[in-house]
Amino acid sequence: MTRHAELVVPGGRYVLRRARIPGCFLHAPSAFGPADADGSFLVDLLIDNGLVADISAAGASMPADGPAIDLAGRQVWSTLLDVHTHLDKGQVIPRAVPDGTLEGGARATIADRQFWTEEDIAARMRFGLQCAYVHGVSMIRTHLDSHEHLAPRSFQVFRAMRDEWAGRIDLQAVGLAPLAVFRTDWGNRLADLVLQSGGVLGGVTDALGVYEGAGDAEMDRLLDAFLMAAAERGLDVDLHVDQTEALDPFALPRIAAAVLRTKFKGRVLCGHCVSLALQPDDVARETIARSVDAGLDFVTLPTPMIYLQDRKPGRTPRWRGVTLAQELLDAGLKVAIGGDNCRDAWFPFGDHDMVDTLHQSVRIFHLDQPFSRALAMAGPMASDIAGAGRHGRIAVGAPADMILLSARTLNEAMCRPQADRIVLRRGKRVMDPLPDYAELDALAGMPA
Ligand SMILES: [Zn+2]
Repeated sequence: MTRHAELVVPGGRYVLRRARIPGCFLHAPSAFGPADADGSFLVDLLIDNGLVADISAAGASMPADGPAIDLAGRQVWSTLLDVHTHLDKGQVIPRAVPDGTLEGGARATIADRQFWTEEDIAARMRFGLQCAYVHGVSMIRTHLDSHEHLAPRSFQVFRAMRDEWAGRIDLQAVGLAPLAVFRTDWGNRLADLVLQSGGVLGGVTDALGVYEGAGDAEMDRLLDAFLMAAAERGLDVDLHVDQTEALDPFALPRIAAAVLRTKFKGRVLCGHCVSLALQPDDVARETIARSVDAGLDFVTLPTPMIYLQDRKPGRTPRWRGVTLAQELLDAGLKVAIGGDNCRDAWFPFGDHDMVDTLHQSVRIFHLDQPFSRALAMAGPMASDIAGAGRHGRIAVGAPADMILLSARTLNEAMCRPQADRIVLRRGKRVMDPLPDYAELDALAGMPA
């Protein structure tokens, strides 16, 4: 039997026989016969000229002639999405030295910005995108630090990267700034820049509440101004919310109330929300109910959070530092898993590999019963949250963008790093290598 990594994928028109696809990646999975114990379905896929031309229950009706690959019941997933990254600040290790705290991350990022020329930002973004592409990620939303003197440069690089990577990774940008900028004229000008760049308006609640000691009334005023700036331009919004263990201020219920008060019609994505897990049960329940009323979406970023939260010198962390993902899902809310920081001043690890992020998330959140819930959070649910169209699903007429695993079950998929995965883009196998770390050596400020 050919080893999985050595499979030769023909071009043009061919059949993938006996592919086992988790139901979340299919539009009407029950059409393909009974699900297995993981909720996956055994199908044959006809690939034609880069598109999925047909899907049928295994052995049902595929053409017998022409090339075919028998996957023998191995897992086939859609390519994945990462709807919360920071490509503009990544790949700066060891130029930046994280100390493992949120405050230290902020300080070291501000210091690192002295090196952020257009060329520097572009080189680091390109490196991160290449990692993601090779690992099987086809859509990324990246936040861009959007202070007044930085945003025009970062957005210019972003637009160039979006063009450069078109067809490989669909890119969205979020203009990220503390909500306090909506006290100034820069808030509206940033919203204009975001609109011109086809992006999403971002904000951070913590800088206001925790670091500036602003009261609830001031947060409400700024949330209204932020949502108004987005509504006037037809923008969606994406907030960094409650990123610390502080119980007060608690921004999430104020965001839900602001969305209802202003009748905001766009999508509202709340990232992090870690302090929700520390609130008393009745407060958490009430907040989740208000989030349902307001139609909020969520993205959890478990890998950097478990690194950053509850870190105190000489003391083992006592809590996981992540939001109430299971309760949010149980309430019918959409929750995505994102990668967040990658080799930067906040989090020195990561490789933009959403399979790895899924592995860690399943363990951190106990998302193994059933496993399939976690897959949707980096697939179709993430796609719906980001308005990313076809990404995260395997459908007739859509590009054949898929990950072929050697694993047959989701247990097998979760136990090994899937280093032998085969990524198909438009039906063709991606043969590009991961970028070499040595490519970053020439960046200004990198130690020799
Ligand atoms: Zn983030």
